[in-house]
Amino acid sequence: MAYPLSSSTLEWQRKAREYAEQDLIPHEEYAELHEGLVPPEVAARHKARALELGFSRMDAPVAHGGLGLPKLDQVVVWEQLGRVTNALCWAMSEAHQWMFEACTPEQIERFIKPLMTGTRCECYAITESEAGSDPGAIATVARRDGDHYVISGEKWFVTSANKADYMFLQAVVPVDAGDRQHALFFVDIDAPGIEMTDNPLFGHTFASHHPTYRFDRVRVPASHRIGAAGDGMAYTRSWFRRERLMIAARCCGAAARLIDMAAAFAKARVVSGQPIAEYQLIQAMLADSLTELWGARLMTYEAAAMQDRGEDLSVVHTHCSMAKLAASEMANRVADRVVQIFGGRGYLRSNAAQRFYRELRVDRIWEGTSEIQRLIVARSLLKRGVDGLLG
Ligand SMILES: Cc1cc2nc3c(=O)[nH]c(=O)nc-3n(C[C@H](O)[C@H](O)[C@H](O)COP(=O)(O)OP(=O)(O)OC[C@H]3O[C@@H](n4cnc5c(N)ncnc54)[C@H](O)[C@@H]3O)c2cc1C
Repeated sequence: MAYPLSSSTLEWQRKAREYAEQDLIPHEEYAELHEGLVPPEVAARHKARALELGFSRMDAPVAHGGLGLPKLDQVVVWEQLGRVTNALCWAMSEAHQWMFEACTPEQIERFIKPLMTGTRCECYAITESEAGSDPGAIATVARRDGDHYVISGEKWFVTSANKADYMFLQAVVPVDAGDRQHALFFVDIDAPGIEMTDNPLFGHTFASHHPTYRFDRVRVPASHRIGAAGDGMAYTRSWFRRERLMIAARCCGAAARLIDMAAAFAKARVVSGQPIAEYQLIQAMLADSLTELWGARLMTYEAAAMQDRGEDLSVVHTHCSMAKLAASEMANRVADRVVQIFGGRGYLRSNAAQRFYRELRVDRIWEGTSEIQRLIVARSLLKRGVDGLLG
C-alpha cells in the first residue's frame, strides 16, 4: 500500500467504490446521451443509497447527527466517487463542518440539517461577470433595511441552482465612509425579485446546471445572514478549502480509472502484430500517468491528514491549494494521454476517457483557477518559507 490507511478508512473506500462501480457507472452513457439525466427512479435510487451510506453527513459533527469522519476518510470516499463521469456522484448534498461553526441553531435546523437528510439542496453564489478570480471585487450589494437586507446584483455560474432550493450568497454590505464588508446570506431561490436570466451550456453533460441569476431588491431577513457582516470572505475560504481538497480527491479517482482503462486497452489492442502495450511510447504514457497520480494522491491524502492532526489552518489552506493544483493538472494530462492511447476510440462519447477529457477541464478553473492556486501557494511560501510549509 502506498499510504497507510486504517481498516475503517479502507472500509469507507470499499463502500464508495462499490457504490461508484455498481450503482453509478452503469448509467454514465445514458446520462451522456440525455443531457446528464438518468431516469427519475434511477436518480431517486442513487440519492437514497448515498444517504443510506452516510455520504451527506460525513463532515457533520456527531452532536448534530453527523458522522464526524476524519477528513482522510472523506477524501478516500470522494476519490472513489471521482471515478464516475457525468457528475452522477452528485446524488446528495453535504453538510460541512464549518457550517455548524458559522450558523445559529435556527439556521442549522432550517438550512443545514436538511442537507444531511436530503430534504433541501444548496448552491453557492459568489462569482459575477466582473468578479471571478478576485471575489473581493463582487458588486452584489446587501443594504440593511430594518430587520431585513435588500439584495441587488447578479451571480454567474451558480452550480446546481436548478436542483437547489436555497443559495449561500456572498454580497457586500456598505458601511461608513464608502467602505464595504463581505457578508454571506442564506437566500431562498424562489424569493421575490430573483430571476434566472441565462442557463448556458458547458463542455460537460451534467444534470446540474450553472445558470446566471439577477437579484432585484430581494428582501432577505437579517436572521439569514451567516455570522457577522464582515465574516463572508472567511466562510467562503472555508468552503474553498474543503471543495479544493475534494476536487483533488475526485481528480485522483478519475485518473486511477483512466489509467486502468488505458492499461487494459493497451494489452488487448494489437497494432502491427503486437499489443500496443509493448510499444515503449505507450508504456511511457502509462508510466508517467501512474507516477503523477501517485504524487497527487499522496499530496491529497496528506492535506487531509494535516487537518485531522489539527495543524495550522493557513498552512492547511496552502496544502489544499497545492493538492488541487497538482491533482487537477495531473488528471488533465492523464485524460489527454488516455484518449491518445485509445486512438479513434478515445474520441467516442461512449468512451469514459472522452467524457473525462471534457469534464476534468473545469477542475483547473472552478474553485479558483490553477493560476490562482499558484498565487496562493507562492504568497504562502514567501511568508512562511519551505520549512514553514513542508517541515
Ligand atoms: C462550470 C462552472 C461552474 C462554476 N460554479 C460556480 C459556483 O457554483 N459558484 C460560483 O460562485 N462560481 C462558480 N464558477 C466560477 C468559477 O469559480 C470562476 O469561473 C473561476 O474562479 C474563474 O473566474 P473567471 O471565470 O471570472 O475568470 P477570470 O477571473 O476572468 O480569469 C481569466 C483568466 O485570467 C487568469 N487570472 C486572473 N487573475 C490572475 C492573476 N492575478 N494572475 C494570473 N492570472 C490571473 C485566470 O487564471 C484565468 O486564466 C463556476 C465556473 C464554471 C466554469
